[in-house]
Amino acid sequence: MGCLFCEIVEKKRPASILYEDDFALAFEDINPHAPVHVLVVPKKHISTNIEITTDDNWLIGHLFQIANTIAGKKGVAERGFRLVMNCNPESGQTVFHIHLHVLGGRVMHWPPG
Ligand code: 5GP
Ligand code: ZN
Repeated sequence: MGCLFCEIVEKKRPASILYEDDFALAFEDINPHAPVHVLVVPKKHISTNIEITTDDNWLIGHLFQIANTIAGKKGVAERGFRLVMNCNPESGQTVFHIHLHVLGGRVMHWPPG
């Protein structure tokens, strides 16, 4: 079975893309859970957080930098925002191509559900 986010990376599936470079892209979540809900995705297919290796260290840092750029563009950098990466089923991961959720624009609750 194909990977949904590889299909978005390859432009075989439409998405509302906010940022793109050679290594990553950021697009609007199709089912937003907050006024700001953007997914930051590496172009390299990595299934889960557990599969990240030291070779990916720069890439993972890059995803966080992009998340900061998105938070700035969306006007939530100072108000606050939350970054989430779910890993494996009990966390709620449903798409097995890693992605950083950028959530903001409302008060976030803690502990998370
Ligand atoms: P997860 O549950 O794996 O942490 O997050 C997957 C996210 O991808 C969910 O928030 C879901 O709404 C989003 N999503 C699933 N399919 C698509 C799609 O085809 N397009 C976009 N833009 N988001 C999607
Ligand atoms: Zn993929």
